[in-house]
Amino acid sequence: MDSFFSFYKDPLFSIIIIISIIIIVAIADYTRNRFKLKEKKDSLNALANNFNYYKFDENINTAIEISKAPIQTLTFIANIYVSNGNFDEAIKIYLSILDKTKDIKNKMDIFELLGMTYYKAGFMQRAKNIFIEILKNNPRNFKVLSLLMQTYETLGEYKNAYDVISCIEELEGKMDNVKKYIKILILINDSIMPPMQREKEILKINSNITNKLTLSYIKQNNLEKFWELILNTKNIYNCIDILWNLDNPPLELIKNHKEISDVYRAKGIINDNIECDIFELETIRILNKNSSKNGTLGFKYCCASCQGIFPFETHRCQSCGELGSMNLVLEIMERKNEKNYSLL
Ligand SMILES: [Zn+2]
Repeated sequence: MDSFFSFYKDPLFSIIIIISIIIIVAIADYTRNRFKLKEKKDSLNALANNFNYYKFDENINTAIEISKAPIQTLTFIANIYVSNGNFDEAIKIYLSILDKTKDIKNKMDIFELLGMTYYKAGFMQRAKNIFIEILKNNPRNFKVLSLLMQTYETLGEYKNAYDVISCIEELEGKMDNVKKYIKILILINDSIMPPMQREKEILKINSNITNKLTLSYIKQNNLEKFWELILNTKNIYNCIDILWNLDNPPLELIKNHKEISDVYRAKGIINDNIECDIFELETIRILNKNSSKNGTLGFKYCCASCQGIFPFETHRCQSCGELGSMNLVLEIMERKNEKNYSLL
């Protein structure tokens, strides 16, 4: 009995016990990591298989097999396809690479590129699934968080977009303007809140960056309020497209506002001899007064951030994603008995 206890007191025994515990913990940890890695691989493969309706190109597969740095080369080619708008070819390449790549880091990078390509090609649901999967593995990926927010926004899932902004704020600091913008979109699309309360809430949040979005909404729902707001708007030039398509302005209310009145001078609704300050408006006014030809205005939208020009206005640039960066560009056009409607 005595010898039994002395065995327990033996320091060698304690060392053996500690080493055994370390080995057991290490084995358990290794097994758990292997399992996690397998789970991750399986989930990424399952995600890739969702998009396998594209037939893998034999040439791409051959290139992957014989090239020394196939991923870099093929990614470079795919990027060229994306910048030329040939999204189908780029998607084929990314899916082929995903099929042949075993390394998780490489797979995640390709998934990010594939998600962005789906986003640019307008396959928002597919882009969303990929971005969510990437964030499961790397929740602090700022670029993917931003893209997911914009994807939710495009899909009209504004509440989800708002939740993603909160995650981005934790990484990047305050995003007040984006929050205000998404909050206004949530309110505009809230079919339960009574219209008057919705209007009140929207006006409470409204800022310079959301002003045109707010004006377009109020114009559809409360014309009287719209005129009150537009009279206090600083950048009237950027709102000429909204004003141009209103045929019955309250002349008494706007008579002392030169910039707004000029729009209706050009349209021929105000018929006096006062010159318009803006060249395009004055040209149309003079043309319509003195020629048998009739002029009208066309509208384009130029992004102040990327200089892209678009035929329709969006509050977020479709090319660079910048918010509230669209500047109105006026175009003089010949009027041929048809009206030019902007979508505002
Ligand atoms: Zn832009």
